[in-house]
Amino acid sequence: MDSASAPLSQRVEGLNGLEAYKVTVVRLEKPLEEVELMYSGRLESYESVLPYLKDSINPEFTLLRTDSLFYPIPSEPDFESLVKSVVGSEFEAEIEIEGVPEGLVVAFGGEIDGNMLRIEGTKRLDIAVAPFKVIEEEPFRLFILSEEGINRAIELLEKAYWFYSSILGRRGEKFTVIETPENYGGQAGKGYALVAGSSLRAEIPANLYHELAHLWNPRITPEAHLSRFFDEAFANYLTALAVREIHGEKAFNRFIEGLRRNYETLIRRFPYAERLKPSEWGGLGLWELSYTKGALILHELHKRTGDDFYEILKRLVEAESVDFERFSRDSQRRGGD
Ligand SMILES: [Zn+2]
Repeated sequence: MDSASAPLSQRVEGLNGLEAYKVTVVRLEKPLEEVELMYSGRLESYESVLPYLKDSINPEFTLLRTDSLFYPIPSEPDFESLVKSVVGSEFEAEIEIEGVPEGLVVAFGGEIDGNMLRIEGTKRLDIAVAPFKVIEEEPFRLFILSEEGINRAIELLEKAYWFYSSILGRRGEKFTVIETPENYGGQAGKGYALVAGSSLRAEIPANLYHELAHLWNPRITPEAHLSRFFDEAFANYLTALAVREIHGEKAFNRFIEGLRRNYETLIRRFPYAERLKPSEWGGLGLWELSYTKGALILHELHKRTGDDFYEILKRLVEAESVDFERFSRDSQRRGGD
């Protein structure tokens, strides 16, 4: 911390729950509505702590992600508290980037205006600088490292976009894809995704379909958000439907089987989770179940309700506010039992 508008103390501490990860902890002397902080620092790789955390400044590929904590995050120096803070709060940001060498391009999920970056209603920040080529093809914007195989990827993205639009209605937002080198770990924010070249060019780019599906997330109450059911279960089941639409029934069945296998693996680790309802997952920190069991529940509901399922989905997407009560009311009325 170089300077601040209010008295504070600071020191470097291990993150509780992930002690090898050292963070600068800044404590304000008293609570404030607003605070201005000026800070600087060196970004070092934390690969020894989190293998995918390769964020660094270098000529080949510079990456700044929320995971490397390159901007202040309100939280206790505790891993769980940090994750909760990132998942549970939205903010807006305006970032000025300086010193980008000639020939390199800044990639960002929000608006880019010269060296100013802006984003609203985001939960995280991700900025990449590399010799990107930029492809803009409404509603997509892609920052890619190689043109090889990219036409097919765009074609598949378009198919998925039109499929989701046809069942859930058009969305105004753009979708940005930022290519990363391999093993950086996928990331997604509001309207954008960071994906490895191999995921982008996969035979069936399910990761991309999943991130794209998040554009159609319903508006969820904070309470219901904890379980991640209405975002992750829905995104994964929409992915399954896009796989069926674009790649056929066999690919769909393989995708569903994969979910089932992953669910069984989770259940071996947390046997008691089998009897829990999705609304109970959040409070127990078992939101991982949304990706597998959550999507499988939607698959069952789809089988039971047939084409009415799309009506249920559409009403959720359009609703002012969604929670489990509303969801079960809607799905039972439509499902007829
Ligand atoms: Zn997701």
